[in-house]
Amino acid sequence: MKEYYIGVDIGGTWIRIAIATRDGSIIEKTVKKTPREGDRYTIANLIIETIKTSLNKYVESVKAIGIGTAGPMDLALGAVINAPNIPIRTFELAKPIQDVLKKSVIMANDCVTAVWGEKTFGLGKKYENVVYITISTGIGGGIIVNDLLLLGKMGNAHEIGHMVVDVSGKMRCGCGGYGHWEAYASGANIPKYASLLLEMWSLSDVEKESQIYKAYRDNTLSSELIYSIAKEGDKLALRIINEINKYNIAGFENVVNLYDPEIVIVGGSVALKNKELVIDRIREGLKKSPGIVTSLPRIEPTVFEDDIVLMGAIALAAYPPQNLVKALKYLQTL
Ligand SMILES: [Zn+2]
Repeated sequence: MKEYYIGVDIGGTWIRIAIATRDGSIIEKTVKKTPREGDRYTIANLIIETIKTSLNKYVESVKAIGIGTAGPMDLALGAVINAPNIPIRTFELAKPIQDVLKKSVIMANDCVTAVWGEKTFGLGKKYENVVYITISTGIGGGIIVNDLLLLGKMGNAHEIGHMVVDVSGKMRCGCGGYGHWEAYASGANIPKYASLLLEMWSLSDVEKESQIYKAYRDNTLSSELIYSIAKEGDKLALRIINEINKYNIAGFENVVNLYDPEIVIVGGSVALKNKELVIDRIREGLKKSPGIVTSLPRIEPTVFEDDIVLMGAIALAAYPPQNLVKALKYLQTL
């Protein structure tokens, strides 16, 4: 009998569910809107119902279910606790699914899941030291050092978006901290940082003609607008992106010096939709930096694009990292 694995990706807007074979080939994929309201079982129930209806013919042959979710979470309980980017912020996840479907559920933070997906099926396959960084609504990371997936005492060993890159603390992060990388360079915060720059700078007449300046005055600035206008050569947009990239380069420099990776794989919509303005600039910045204390890693965009967390979730189910299994105490109740 064929063996199947289910992967689930829980994000702020979409929940993706896929059935795959052990080699990571996706057979079917279903996408649902993330519920905007409900109780602490709504999300688990939606996943159970979707698996029962859409993937019913496979369920008997499913060996395990992997889940990558926006966090933070309590790994021991298998629950998500106060996630800033999911409308229902606190919810039970692994145990209700495990209890109903009678399959082990392996869950992790979405970026931790992504790095495991890259290590198992993607660009990280031939390396022992792999970092995954997403530059999206937020900035997050997943880290593997000498083949060990880093977790930490509560499962937060990878929270690179909250590293301090500006001790003057000009910008306040969604977590409440000051000067965090994510507060300058993530999709949700770029408009706020750009506005601060436009307040501080004395602009030339040409710069005042920029669509960016008009959007700033109308309060309609978005990171999409800044990057799309920069691609058309707008000087003011490029000047802003240059400032944002100083924080991206600082963040990457810290990560490279901390974890000594062989490869850093980059995902997230801000990076993937603007590879030249984000990933290429980071690469160039690191090459020029005198502060890298190790040899430079490869820096590459993920080949899985939007499916990266889903691929990681399938990898968690099919090839669960043993230290993660140990941390997921609820697994013992199956
Ligand atoms: Zn923060």
